[in-house]
Amino acid sequence: MSVKSLTMKRVLVVGGGIIGTMHAYLALKAGHEVVQVERDSLPSSASVRNFGLVWVSGREAGSELQLAIRARELWGQIGSEASIGFRPNGSLTVAQSDSEFSVMQEAASMDDASLRGFEILNKREVQDLEPLLAGNFVGALRCTTDAAVEPLLLLSGLRDEMQKNVNYQWLPNFDVDSFTHSDTGNHISDVNGKMISGDLLVLCPGAAHAGFLSKYFNEAPVRKVFLQMGSTIPIAEKLGHSIADADSMRYYPGFKNLSLDRLPPQSKLAAENHMQLLLAPRFDGSFTIGDTHLYQEPFSHEIIEEPYEHLTRVISNIFGRELKIGKRWSGVYSQSTSSDIYFRREVAPGAVIVTGAGGRGNTLSPAIAEETITSWAI
Ligand SMILES: Cc1cc2nc3c(=O)[nH]c(=O)nc-3n(C[C@H](O)[C@H](O)[C@H](O)COP(=O)(O)OP(=O)(O)OC[C@H]3O[C@@H](n4cnc5c(N)ncnc54)[C@H](O)[C@@H]3O)c2cc1C
Repeated sequence: MSVKSLTMKRVLVVGGGIIGTMHAYLALKAGHEVVQVERDSLPSSASVRNFGLVWVSGREAGSELQLAIRARELWGQIGSEASIGFRPNGSLTVAQSDSEFSVMQEAASMDDASLRGFEILNKREVQDLEPLLAGNFVGALRCTTDAAVEPLLLLSGLRDEMQKNVNYQWLPNFDVDSFTHSDTGNHISDVNGKMISGDLLVLCPGAAHAGFLSKYFNEAPVRKVFLQMGSTIPIAEKLGHSIADADSMRYYPGFKNLSLDRLPPQSKLAAENHMQLLLAPRFDGSFTIGDTHLYQEPFSHEIIEEPYEHLTRVISNIFGRELKIGKRWSGVYSQSTSSDIYFRREVAPGAVIVTGAGGRGNTLSPAIAEETITSWAI
């Protein structure tokens, strides 16, 4: 891994989600001492509620795609070191009509299509790869650079690996409510008044924009987004690739210059709930499915049923069989609303907030952490 340091520093990481954990992991690898704190006994927000997708395919051409490709490289290395369920399984964005397929053919001939690992497959080629897809579709856009991890193994797998190093300390149930900077470094205190000091501080609070950090988020170009998710009841047959429907092409900026007006009209329900189908196979034979997007706060605590009916219909059409939903949940992420790929703000010398990577936070997390650690060496 390219992250190397000459001088060991004591690094404090606030937040046990994937952004904080990747900072801890790469800082430790770079030779630093790391203390990572988390308010909960186990992290329970966006990083464990997501699909676990490492999704390169739809990233915007230019710096976002470059960051995703660097992240994908790092995921490959980290996945060979820690038990996180990493696999380079690729994805299939499935065309359910000729017009969707024609937009996918256009995607497969974009200038950077080979960088993304795109190839266009007809129905028989899709079924040679994935016999489980026995439904009514035309073909698919395959992306060989897409990958996946297991969200419920990821954070503990990375921590288990770090805990082999005496320079790593994990402190759960440490709810930070202030930080200060002095000549001796950066200091965090929890709600019980316990203080920890370090040279460098990385604050990775996810969508916790309130509390002691609220003054940095009040006017900041960052918002929260609420999503509904679910998982199907496990089946015995195996699926390798992650799956998306053509609605996903409406949202991913990598496709914005294609003839999206050739896509058939989106269903009213999917449009109202800003939906796409994403489906990630899990080790237990279930599929994580979603998602909806709600941008207007305050968010309701209620999970609404109709979006799941839409997802079930799309899945039935692609798989040629019904897959029953066994679990439903929601999640919230923090998303940058500016042209910045994510939100990074220095709040004191050697102290930085890193969040706001939105629906690409899992994908980009190792490369985002690497950017922070590289900045310390300058
Ligand atoms: C439903 C859903 C699906 C998604 N799917 C994908 C996907 O497939 N691929 C992808 O790339 N991205 C996906 N994302 C986005 C991705 O999950 C997030 O961008 C990423 O998990 C954010 O990580 P984080 O560490 O910033 O935040 P979080 O996971 O929210 O972690 C922040 C942590 O900080 C802790 N914390 C906050 N404040 C304090 C404090 N004061 N003191 C101590 N601890 C504190 C919290 O308890 C929490 O554990 C999805 C997000 C959601 C919600």
